Amino acid sequence: MPDQSLIDDLITANHILFRQGVVDAYGHVSARSPDDPEHFFLTWAVAPALARASDVLTFDLEGNTPDAAGRELYSERYIHAAVYKNRPDVMGVVHSHSPAIIPFTVCDVELQPIWHMSAFLADGVGLFDTQDVAGDTDLLIKNIELGEALAKTLGTGWVALLRGHGNVVAGRSVREAVYRAIYTEANAQLQEKALRMGTRVKYLTPGEAALMNAYMKPDVRRPWELWAHDADGR
Ligand SMILES: [Zn+2]
Repeated sequence: MPDQSLIDDLITANHILFRQGVVDAYGHVSARSPDDPEHFFLTWAVAPALARASDVLTFDLEGNTPDAAGRELYSERYIHAAVYKNRPDVMGVVHSHSPAIIPFTVCDVELQPIWHMSAFLADGVGLFDTQDVAGDTDLLIKNIELGEALAKTLGTGWVALLRGHGNVVAGRSVREAVYRAIYTEANAQLQEKALRMGTRVKYLTPGEAALMNAYMKPDVRRPWELWAHDADGR
């Protein structure tokens, strides 16, 4: 039986990501079970803004669930399964098509931390291209093999971009994954603006990023309280 407070966080995470412009009808967020790390929680294929606790299903690390009962599943649930399988430290995952990052998936410009709020990007941003591993596809991560290849690209970082598609963002909690998804989108918007003003953009140094990352806590209390209040009145 999942911890109700984690399920509450997961539902609020769905609503926050919509309110903050990270997901629309598409995109999804999951939370790993702290009591049973071989399983994670994710809704069936509902639009995130409409998610309720009764929509949450339990999945294994191959992306299977015994609970579907005829309901449609997210075709890209394998993203979550593979990241949890490859990264024992990850407790929350967001997959989205948040718009400002898309140009960074198709142009030769690396997404880098432009401000302290996105210092986590300094741990590396991988670029995954389905073309490299499977040739022409619909670009969706629709099986565990593609999920594994994507997880390999994520490596030890927190963000990986998917060419012509979107991104995957990981956190030490579902709250942190939400924070990072929001600030990955914000960073992309600001970096694109800075690059229009000048080509010699000064990004955070590795030392600055490491100090900021040490300061940030996985519960991201202050922004979470604000976003949850805005999305759910919590
Ligand atoms: Zn997708």
